This record gives sequence, structure tokens and C-alpha cells, in this order.
Amino acid sequence: MEKLGFERRQRVVLVPFPFQGHITPMLQLGSIFHSKGFSITIAQTKFNSPNPSNYPEFTFLPLSDNLDNYDTSFCNMLNVISFVNTNCEGPFEDYMVQMLGEEDVQGEVACIVYDPIMNFVNVVANKLNLPTIVLKTTPATYMQSQVVMFQLLEEKLIPLPESQLQVSIPQIHPLRFKDLPLPATDKIPQDVLDFTQSYMDIKSSSAIIWNTANTLDHYPLQQLQQHFRVPIFPIGPFHKLAPNLTTSLMEEDNGCLSWLDKQAPNSVIYVSFGSLAIIDENALLEIARGLAKSEQPFLWVVRPSLLNGSNAMDFLPEDFKERTRERGCIVKWVPQRKVLAHPAVGGFFSHCGWNSTLESICEGVPLICMPFFTDQMVIARYMNYVWKVGVELENVLESGIEKGIRTLMVSEEGKVMRKRAFEMKLELEQCINGGGSSYESLDQLVEFIVSLAG
Ligand code: UDP
Repeated sequence: MEKLGFERRQRVVLVPFPFQGHITPMLQLGSIFHSKGFSITIAQTKFNSPNPSNYPEFTFLPLSDNLDNYDTSFCNMLNVISFVNTNCEGPFEDYMVQMLGEEDVQGEVACIVYDPIMNFVNVVANKLNLPTIVLKTTPATYMQSQVVMFQLLEEKLIPLPESQLQVSIPQIHPLRFKDLPLPATDKIPQDVLDFTQSYMDIKSSSAIIWNTANTLDHYPLQQLQQHFRVPIFPIGPFHKLAPNLTTSLMEEDNGCLSWLDKQAPNSVIYVSFGSLAIIDENALLEIARGLAKSEQPFLWVVRPSLLNGSNAMDFLPEDFKERTRERGCIVKWVPQRKVLAHPAVGGFFSHCGWNSTLESICEGVPLICMPFFTDQMVIARYMNYVWKVGVELENVLESGIEKGIRTLMVSEEGKVMRKRAFEMKLELEQCINGGGSSYESLDQLVEFIVSLAG
């Protein structure tokens, strides 16, 4: 990538929300900006901090968060968010004041790019008169579904009866009520609504950067452009612009790559539900039985926190391990981008987190979709119905899982999806290559940031 010739190096401060799916795209964005000539500072909670020595090109500011001994599981996420926002505001303000006092040495602060969950950033930036840009780490179509969900709430159409769940929502067809980010049949608790609303409010930010591409999200991006009225820059998929950056918070088991080397092309189903999803013992056993019955080779990430409260590995039955020893590889955490790029991997049984989804379609790997929460339901629907590269599970019992795997891996329908996934891979490559929409948008974003500082 070509660097812009700044007269004086400008600094961009980045503030990620400290969970894997949010830290990864923020670090990638830092790397992209660095390659464009900016100095990069990452203000990062001590909790879940990446190891700064892996990123010598960045300066890290450790934010005291007091999260030691706090329950940071997904079930307690709203409290974690509130805790982080309360505890990090003071330390962040102190750092920024110091940095502004040292601009002669450190370079001028052009702007702060932050994850909108880290609300406190906006408060500090307003006080110090610094421009901010929001980074969206989920697809635009998810944001659009949130906007429509609030309209439905205002019109008192939610909660609605179970019988309505399969009905599609006209404003965001093909999404159905069951795909909405919050359960449409329940009364949504006020604290959840308040958080969602504040997360959607981009406040006084100057622009939005989106880890997506026009080819995936064109229509929602157009709609949101009218809604937000600030420039939107879809410059993704980020990981293709920062291909050599390691972002894993957990140790990667590289042994699985040698195991993949011994498997036939397109034969392995890769199974992983990201960094946060939690399942119960029954679901774990259904998945194990579905994998066993499918007769397909598999690579399964069973991270220790997958099972609520206990180490998931300990609950896998001995007869399952015995029966699948020859064709199964079970590990705690893998180098996922390398796994998806491996020729042996022919399908991804996934929770449909946005990073995982982008990583999969960028390698032409179709998916089996088992969404858990928030944006994952929206993504799963798009994978299946719009982009046509995902199998929607009929049910999450062993029979549904076995059938889903067979459909994706050995049926004609699966072949068509693999072909379509390969076409999407090419479309995404076009977006980031010279003249493509993400490429152009990134150039415009760089100009925009330079103009903020000027
Ligand atoms: N990931 C990984 N190794 C694993 C499982 C996941 O490196 O064994 C990475 C994956 O490549 C992705 C991230 O963890 O970048 C998960 O983010 P995603 O948005 O897919 O889901 P989340 O964890 O936020 O639910």
C-alpha cells in the first residue's frame, strides 16, 4: 500500500472493546493505518490485553479496569461493559491530556477511532475537543436490523406471538422476526434497550469505519448513510489488508495444521463457535454425536470455556473419542485463518461471528450456521438466504447436525454452495484490490483523517 507523505507524522489513537472478536479488527485497522503512514497508539484495558511485544510498531496505553476477579463471561456482559466504561474514563483522559501536551514529540493526534461499546471515549474526546471515528465490527445489515427493531418497538409491534417468528419483516426482507438481534417474543429488559440504543448512537463522531465490503452490504450501507449523515467507509475485509498480523489472545495449537496436511482436499468440516459462545452439556453431546454419525473428517475447537462452568473436553464421552480417533482432531484453539485457508477444509460449522464469517468466505469455504446471539442470527440468515453459501440447521439435535454436515460436504447442494463461496472470495478480492470499492474507500478515509487534523 502506498504511504501518504505527511509533513509531520500524525497519530491515530485506537480504543478496542476488550474481547477477541472486537480486538482483532481494531488491531488489523491499526496495522492498515500504520502502513498508510500514521503512528498508532492503542489504549487497551489490562484485561485481555494482547502482548505489546508482538506489535513493536504500536504504542500501547494500558487502561486500569479493575476487572481482575470479575465475571467476564457473555452472561455478565452488560455489567462488564458498564464496569469498563466507569473505570477506564479517568485513566484514558489522563493519557490523552499527556499526549496532547507532548504533540511536538509524539506527533499530532489526528483522531480517536473507538469501538462504540467504549462509550467513555466520546465523553473524553468531547472534553478535549478531539475528533472521533466509530469502528463497526459487525455487518451493516445488523445495524440496519437494530434500527428497524427500534422502529417496531416504538410502534408497539414487539413483543409478538411465537406464531409470527417465521414472518419476514418488510423493511429488512429477508430477515424474519426470529432473526432480530433481540428476542421478538419477549419484553426486552430496559437495561438491554438502553445499552443497544447507546451503542447505536454514534453521537458526535465524524465518521464510521466498517469492517465490511460493498459487495456484501451495499444496500444496508446506502440506507445507513441516509440515517447517520456522516461519511461511512466500508474498507473490509480487514484481515486481508493485514494478512501477517497475529491477533489471537489464546495460544494457538499449530499441530492441527500437520493433521490437516494428511487429509484429502475439501474433506474436513472445521467446527468452532468463536471466543464467547457457551453451550450446555446436552448440546455438546448432540454435536459430538452429529459429528460421529456424519462419517466426515472433522477439526473441532473445544475451548475450555465452551461449556458453562466446566472444561468441555472432560465431558466428551470416551466412546465418541474412540469412534472418531481416526478421522477427528479436537483442540482448544487453532490459528483459524490458516485452518480456513488449508485445502483440506471444505466446510465450516460456525456460530457465524462476523470475523469468522469474513475469514471463511474470503477462503471460499461455505458454512453450516448455528447462530447464538446478536449479529449472528442476522449473519446466518444472510449466509443462507441472500449469499447462498450457508446451510441453516434444521435443528440442533444430532440428526439436524448430521444432515447439515452431509448437505454441505457431500451433496450437490453443497457443491453449488462451494462454487458460490469461491465466487464470493473473488468478489471480495476485487473489493480490496486496486480500483475496488474497499480500496477506494480506504484512500478516501486516509484523506478524511488527514483533513480532520488540518
Ligand atoms: N479464532 C481463532 N482460533 C480459534 C477460534 C477462533 O483464532 O480456535 C478467532 C477467529 O479467527 C476470529 C475470532 O477468533 O477472528 C472470533 O471472532 P468472531 O467475530 O468470529 O466471533 P466471537 O468470538 O466474537 O463470537
